[in-house]
Amino acid sequence: MNAPVAPVEDDLTAAERERILAKAALFAPPPAVLPDGRRELVGLSRAELEAEMAAIGEKPFRAKQLWHWIYHQGERNFARMTSIAGPMRAKLAERFVVGRPEVSAEQTSRDSTRKWLFRWRDGQQVETVYIPDNDEDRGAVCISTQVGCTLSCRFCHTGTQRLTRNRGVAEIVGQFMAARDSYGEWPSPKDDQPRRLSTIVVMGMGEPLYNYENTAKALRIVMDGEGIGLSRRRITLSTSGVVPMMDRCGRELGVNLAVSLHAVRDDLRNEIVPLNRKYPIAELMAACRRYPGASNSRRITFEYVMLRDVNDSEAEAHELVRLLEGIPAKVNLIPFNPWPGSPYKTSTYEQTAKFAAIVNAAGYSSPIRRPRGRDILAACGQLKTETERAQRG
Ligand code: SAH
Ligand code: SF4
Repeated sequence: MNAPVAPVEDDLTAAERERILAKAALFAPPPAVLPDGRRELVGLSRAELEAEMAAIGEKPFRAKQLWHWIYHQGERNFARMTSIAGPMRAKLAERFVVGRPEVSAEQTSRDSTRKWLFRWRDGQQVETVYIPDNDEDRGAVCISTQVGCTLSCRFCHTGTQRLTRNRGVAEIVGQFMAARDSYGEWPSPKDDQPRRLSTIVVMGMGEPLYNYENTAKALRIVMDGEGIGLSRRRITLSTSGVVPMMDRCGRELGVNLAVSLHAVRDDLRNEIVPLNRKYPIAELMAACRRYPGASNSRRITFEYVMLRDVNDSEAEAHELVRLLEGIPAKVNLIPFNPWPGSPYKTSTYEQTAKFAAIVNAAGYSSPIRRPRGRDILAACGQLKTETERAQRG
C-alpha cells in the first residue's frame, strides 16, 4: 500500500488539465510589482529569486541569504538583514519589498480560535483562521486560494459568490506568514521543536485545484527546509473533486488530500456538489485510489457535511463504507454551518452519531467535527462575507 501507484494518464486527462490551467490564467492575481516599480520578493521561487539577483549583478548566494531572512527569520525590513552589507541592503530596498497582507481586522474567539481579515494591495480581502489545539501547543491555519469560487456547492456560502480572481503566490504564503507574525513565531522552529502554527489546511475560500499553479508554488515555498520548513505531512489540501488535477497534486506536492464528498449517490452529489456532473463519484474514487503517497499512516480524509434528512441516513453511511473500500481513508463528519438564506439544516446529534457509528464499525475513524470560532464567524463556509456584513453594521 505504501508503494506509489503509477498514475493513469490518458490524452483526455491531459487535455482537461490544459483547459483547467488556461481558465485559471484568466483570473490571474494582480502583478507582483508595486506602482513605484519595486518588486515583491515573497512568492518567488528560489530560481526566480536568483534571477532577480543576477539582474542586479549579484551572485546566487545573495538569493540564499534573502531566502533565509524572508522565510526563516520572517524579516520584512532590509535594514535589519544584518548579514548583508549596508550598501547592498540599501540597493535591495530601492528595488524590492518583502510584503505582507495588511491586517484590517483581528478577532479571537472564546475558544481561542483567531481570525484575521487581511487586505491585499488591490483591496481584495481574505479571511484566515487559526484553530489552536487547546490541549497542546499546536494548531492549524486555514488558508484560502481564491476570491470567491467558480463552483456552487449548495451548502457553501462561498459558493454563492462568483469568482473574482485567483489568489497570487505571495498572497497565499502571506496568509500563513502574517498569521505567524501575529503570534511572533519567528524564526521558523526547527523540525523537532514544537510549533504553535504547526499545520496548514487549504480549506478556506475557493477550489485550490482550480488555482493549481499559484497554490503549488506557495506550498513549495512553505515546505522548503531552509525557510518555513513545514513538511508535506503537515499540509492538507481540500478539493471538491477536480479529478484531472488530483494526480498532479499528489505527484508534485505529495501533501495530504482531503476530498469533499458529502454525498454517496451521483443524483444527490450532482445537486449539492455540482462539479460531480463533470467528475462523478466513480471517477473521484478512482483518483483517490491512485493518489500517490496515500497509505495507512497517511490517509485520505473524506469530508462529509451533515445535512438533515438530505444525506445523513444510515443507508448512506453503509454506502459510504462500500465506496471507501480499498482506500486508506478517514471520514470527517462536519455539522452543517447555516448561513442566512441557506437551504439546509444541520443533522441532529443523534443522527450524526448513528452515522459515525456505522462508519467507525467498518474500521474508519470518523470524528464529528466540533465547530470552532462560531462567535467570531470563523466556521467553514462562513468566511469573508459575514465579516464584511458585520463591519458594515
Ligand atoms: N473548495 C474546497 C476547499 C474549501 S471548502 C472544497 O470544497 O473542498 C472546505 C470545506 O468546508 C469543504 O469540505 C466544504 O464542503 C466545507 N463547507 C463549506 N460550506 C460549509 C458549511 N456551510 N458548513 C460546513 N462545512 C462547509
Ligand atoms: Fe467552492 Fe469548496 Fe465552497 Fe464548493 S465547498 S463552493 S468548491 S469553496
